[in-house]
Amino acid sequence: MQGQVSAGKRVLVPLGKNRKYIGIVHSLTSEVKEGINYRDILQVLDDEPIVSQYQLELWQWVAEYYCCSLSDVMKNALPSALSKNTLTELKDAYVIKTDILPKRNTSQALSILARYDELALMGDVLKSTLLENESLSAFNTLVKNGVFTLEYKKKSRLKTIFSTKSASELTPAQSQALEEIKAGFLENKPVLLNGVTSSGKTEIYIKLIQEVIEKGGQVLYLVPEIALTTQLTDRLSQVFGDDLISYHSKLSDSERGEIYNEIGSRFKVVLGVRSAVFLPFTNLKLIIVDEEHEPSYKQTEPAPRYNAKNVALMLAHKLKIGILMGSATPSVESYHLTKTGKYKLVNLNVRYGNVELPEIIVLDRQDAFIKNRMKSMFSWLLLEKMKECLSKGEQVILFQNRRGFSSFIECKQCAWVPKCPHCDVSLTYHKYQNYLSCHYCGYKIPVPNICPKCGTEDFKDKGFGTEKVIEELEERFPDYKAGRLDTDVTQSKHAYNKILNAFSSGEIKILVGTQMIAKGLDFDNVGLVGVLNADNMLNYPDFRSDERAFQILVQVSGRAGRRNKRGMVLIQTAQTEHSIMPAIIQNNYSLFYDKQTMLRQMFSYPPFVRIINIYVKSSDYNICYRAVGSLYKDLFANFGDQLLGPDKPPVSKVQKLHIQKLMLKLPVEQSMSESKRRIIKSIEKLKTNFPSVFVIIDVDPI
Ligand code: ADP
Ligand code: ZN
Ligand code: ZN
Repeated sequence: MQGQVSAGKRVLVPLGKNRKYIGIVHSLTSEVKEGINYRDILQVLDDEPIVSQYQLELWQWVAEYYCCSLSDVMKNALPSALSKNTLTELKDAYVIKTDILPKRNTSQALSILARYDELALMGDVLKSTLLENESLSAFNTLVKNGVFTLEYKKKSRLKTIFSTKSASELTPAQSQALEEIKAGFLENKPVLLNGVTSSGKTEIYIKLIQEVIEKGGQVLYLVPEIALTTQLTDRLSQVFGDDLISYHSKLSDSERGEIYNEIGSRFKVVLGVRSAVFLPFTNLKLIIVDEEHEPSYKQTEPAPRYNAKNVALMLAHKLKIGILMGSATPSVESYHLTKTGKYKLVNLNVRYGNVELPEIIVLDRQDAFIKNRMKSMFSWLLLEKMKECLSKGEQVILFQNRRGFSSFIECKQCAWVPKCPHCDVSLTYHKYQNYLSCHYCGYKIPVPNICPKCGTEDFKDKGFGTEKVIEELEERFPDYKAGRLDTDVTQSKHAYNKILNAFSSGEIKILVGTQMIAKGLDFDNVGLVGVLNADNMLNYPDFRSDERAFQILVQVSGRAGRRNKRGMVLIQTAQTEHSIMPAIIQNNYSLFYDKQTMLRQMFSYPPFVRIINIYVKSSDYNICYRAVGSLYKDLFANFGDQLLGPDKPPVSKVQKLHIQKLMLKLPVEQSMSESKRRIIKSIEKLKTNFPSVFVIIDVDPI
């Protein structure tokens, strides 16, 4: 077997009594270490490595950087279809009728036969198709008796798409940006494209991609979430047809396996989410990170808790290829790196067609409330502007911060609030389907009819989620159809597209949504965007809350504006004096950035320090508390004032586990790998003293 085994190939190995596992060969060595129980390899499964050398090095880097095991990385990087024992998994089973005549005892099972003949007329008979309406046991009986045999053949599960449109001619401003981007690549620098909303960033990406694939190269195009990028996927597949493949979590295991296996021979452009950075590209020449500020590039659970943007940067560095990050609202960290000269900054300040950026009005909710000029969640001004807009045939978008947070219920009498028994949060009220659910663990109960605490029958719903907004709209604007876009309605991609299409076609006049509506959507008849309540975003206890609020508000505002007319944005807030407001009103990123960095420097937050969070979890509160105390002592000896906590995180109990948190703020110039080594050592010690606790390390948390 010696000649067959090499790094990156899968091998079958025995572990435990009767268990066989598939493993990846990491490296070969002739060294024999004492105390290790070596096992034989039973079989080499691949002729060629399925993980190449550069990938193994990348895995190694991820494991070290994010303090996790190589197997954590592998589980995330390899589609699970590839680590299953049966290699036929990736092939389809076709049913073939043999010459053997059915025995009498199978005559009943034979009533499947009609369907078989019908399918056979159309060509190959797929087992899965045959069994759609037939009984599996009857089918198995026939296979057992030899009436049918199965043949495994490879068949592509991926749809064929033809390109139908060419790329757009770039405007002079866009061409200029494109040249600057390419100049940045020549300097071997990652490039940050800061282009205002609707400036045509996507068109620039398309041009760049074309240039790369014409020369035979591959492109990785990372997006935060595929489900929310229908318009983008459509646009790209119009241009790239079958050269493009989308890689995301909604694909089946075998589809992902197929893409992984055939990436080199079939695809030139991969539009993918996080884990697409781990695909085995054979000739990758360019990486694009769209909406680079998006927090969803970071995987929070489970390990590896990696940031795909960061891994992409490492990958580009390793392969010495260009990487372009784009956003209308860059992350403070990335923008900072353009200031220090590590990244190159390219600006694109004009919208396509010179459409003006919207006028932004900030309305004082508190003041309006005192003067009795709030009608429930709407200020008089918002109502007036909505009427104006709708009567002119224009559309309105209303933004309401994420579904949870404010939409809990509270007893009018005794102020009882239903809470999740497993997590330290109140349950969210879903009025339409009349249930309460926990957004952390999925716990779900029907809404009780009477208050369990005081017996009152009348429950009051507090705050206002998107559902409540729709309800109010039906009363206030009965003549205009409203629709909502949030994760409740858009569990299925179909529902999401349906609502988007209804809004695009003008059937829906008012679209109510969570930050979902802020992402990459492009409509051309939106006269007004209303932000119902900016405050719960601004109040969220996190050093990044200002940055998030700024990003969301600017992105949401970007949906306003029509071909030839300026749009309007109305933001309702009790914090009109908040430091991010002037930057939002003026659409001035630098203004925001300068203020933010001043604060971050003053209070020691990234990009001026690097953060590592350590979470200690236990089902027993006392053990959790004692364990974190002991870890604190140990780490304090090494890190002193760089260590903060222990502290309860904002949600301090999730899925029955109590949580305590420690935070390390490490100076940028301090060696990260040395710090991590010490942290891991302390945690190992903790685990021997408190074997029942869970410890999680989160490097560069978001
Ligand atoms: P961004 O990604 O910066 O928000 P998009 O690339 O989505 O902007 O462009 C906004 C709109 O303008 C899209 O409908 C796009 O097709 C159109 N557009 C941008 N640039 C061009 C161009 N050069 N030619 C034709 N249409 C363009
Ligand atoms: Zn819960
Ligand atoms: Zn009560």
